[in-house]
Amino acid sequence: MPSYAFFQGKFMPLEEAKIGIMTHCIHYGTAVFEGIRGNWNAERKQTYLFRMREHYERLVQGCRVLQIKLHYTVDEMCEKTVELVRKCGFEEDIYVRPVAYASSQALGVRLHGLEHDFFIFVIPWGPYLDVEKARCSVSSWRRPEDNVIPPQVKAAGIYINNALAKTEAVSNGFDEAIMLAPDGHVSEGSGENIFIVKDGKLITPASYSNILIGITRNTVIELAEKELGLVTIQRPIDRSELYNADECFLTGTAAHITPVAEIDRRPVGNGEIGPITAKLQEIYARVIRGNHPKYMHWCTPVYGK
Ligand code: PMP
Repeated sequence: MPSYAFFQGKFMPLEEAKIGIMTHCIHYGTAVFEGIRGNWNAERKQTYLFRMREHYERLVQGCRVLQIKLHYTVDEMCEKTVELVRKCGFEEDIYVRPVAYASSQALGVRLHGLEHDFFIFVIPWGPYLDVEKARCSVSSWRRPEDNVIPPQVKAAGIYINNALAKTEAVSNGFDEAIMLAPDGHVSEGSGENIFIVKDGKLITPASYSNILIGITRNTVIELAEKELGLVTIQRPIDRSELYNADECFLTGTAAHITPVAEIDRRPVGNGEIGPITAKLQEIYARVIRGNHPKYMHWCTPVYGK
């Protein structure tokens, strides 16, 4: 099924949306991107875009840091996204990729004096970590600190760090990497935030552990509190705490909630999906598909009216 892009202010077939080889962002990673899920609800023949506004708000913040001039407001980007997804007409789970980037055909390492543009495209995409339970390893690659490259910005250039970690993990036979912060505390996965459960408490690294503040992370924190009465503790996590956790899971727009079965060849708990992880997975799956009436404000329907 053909897909479409919103590119240079117009909707067009995806294969026609091309940029030149001198485009600044290709050379220096001067782009900020997002990943938004469209979750297909087969019963209602509807696709729900999950927390789209929050993704665009994060994009706007990242652009401020990278001095990227966005020509669209959050509302306009949301409208263009709905229109694009509707035009594509997929009847399955999709992934929306908006990118704001330095579009100048110019060389020179800088953020200033550049032209900027914005595009969106849509692809069908199932689960990102295509495993029921992930086997992880602690990476030899650390997250950069905020004064090196700000990890709270979803900047294209920073993802070299994540790619080094991911490929190291996969080459060593694991599904995903867990990266440490510069101070040696646990930070996050290559494309996910991390949570552990210990003695019935939910714990996740705070912003100062050099994480991307994930929208799925925030969703899980809210669902855990409202639906399970569990308050999440945000604090530094030691590497050895990973090995003694009762449960562990990763969260991300692409990865949803993925249980972690093993870290550095040590089983997490008994190596099975833990009870709190399973409950959160079940609630989250309903919420993102528009099957939980309390959280419909997070779901934007695409088809119909
Ligand atoms: N950390 C990193 C490094 C990521 O790339 C992602 C995916 N965007 C996340 C965390 C999770 O963020 P979110 O839940 O907003 O997708």
